[in-house]
Amino acid sequence: MKKLLMIPGPTPVVDSIREQMGRDTVAFGDPGFVADFKQVIQDLKNMWSCDGEVFVVAGSGTLAMEMALANTVTKGEKFLLVSNGFFGDRFIEIAERKGIDLTVLQAEWGDTVTPQQVDDVLKQGGFKAVAVTQVDTSTGVLAPVHEIGQVVKQYEDVIYIVDGVCSVAGEPVNLKDDQIDVLFTGSQKAFGVSPGLMMLWANQRSLQRRQAMGQIPEYYCDYHKWLPIMQDTAKYFATPPINLIWALQESIRLIKEETLNQRYQRHQDNAFAMQQAFEAMGFQVLAKKECRAHTLSNLLYPEGVDDAEFRTKLAQEGVQAAGGVGQYAGKMLRIGHMGNADRHTLIATLAALERTMKHFRPDHELGQALTAFLKARS
Ligand code: PMP
Repeated sequence: MKKLLMIPGPTPVVDSIREQMGRDTVAFGDPGFVADFKQVIQDLKNMWSCDGEVFVVAGSGTLAMEMALANTVTKGEKFLLVSNGFFGDRFIEIAERKGIDLTVLQAEWGDTVTPQQVDDVLKQGGFKAVAVTQVDTSTGVLAPVHEIGQVVKQYEDVIYIVDGVCSVAGEPVNLKDDQIDVLFTGSQKAFGVSPGLMMLWANQRSLQRRQAMGQIPEYYCDYHKWLPIMQDTAKYFATPPINLIWALQESIRLIKEETLNQRYQRHQDNAFAMQQAFEAMGFQVLAKKECRAHTLSNLLYPEGVDDAEFRTKLAQEGVQAAGGVGQYAGKMLRIGHMGNADRHTLIATLAALERTMKHFRPDHELGQALTAFLKARS
């Protein structure tokens, strides 16, 4: 039986994207590929309003985290980390290993750090950068990146980094409108491409910061190694993942066809309807209503349902979902509803969830969740 891939990334890969990965691989200097790569970079720049450069590099989101920090802050400099969960916390070790002078603002899981809290810390002075995770995949919390951007822009020396791994192409975000200097994501989430590519947008301001830093210890993720390639895709620094770049090109084509605004609206409508359905089944959404992401749901089980048993049974019913991480390991079900997961897929997911829930809670009335979804998303 085909299992629906409903973990919060990788997300379902539609046929037209998958076909690009099955194409005959060409040389990275092939004129057709050089033109395609160039178009991908141009589209990414335009769609997310970047006046600097976009880096499309083989690697996962974690590489992008390291790249963002390595090219912005150096040993001994002050960096403020705004963390709403496990993936925000990942920056702690990255910063510590680089000897960066780290300050951390952490929200209780399910809640978000506020712009006011960020302002209070930045007022102490001397900070070189702030990083925020737009959607922390461990909590399903959506951070107010726009409002935090309004705060950060008042501090001349501070570069604003946003981790958009679980948000870009699913939640509204834009370098210019949100005053973001560095934004990054991975191919496997709301772009609906297989894992293996990271994208990082760096505006002029952040490129100037990199310029002022001189040589940095990192090699593969140094902006300066990649800038010549992003500016002229016929050049070589390290081999580009040709088929993944084609897959990304097709994903971008689909996004343009849908339009970003409609894509954001679809994510919001789907999230609302899915969350109505989850609640109808007895799940509780962890994130507070005021800061709930639209790309995934992080659900607490109803009384007496065991996580491992539930997900094993759910897989037998045809759906792969993820468990919790960190403090919610063994206590949470995480379901992605981002990227190119269509309505049929969401409905099939809910049907499998209902069958699974019935197994553990015989009093669950089949169809309740589907009805809640269909009422909200008719
Ligand atoms: N940041 C966020 C918000 C994430 O969700 C993830 C992965 N789930 C990462 C960073 C790390 O990305 P990757 O697993 O692709 O290295």
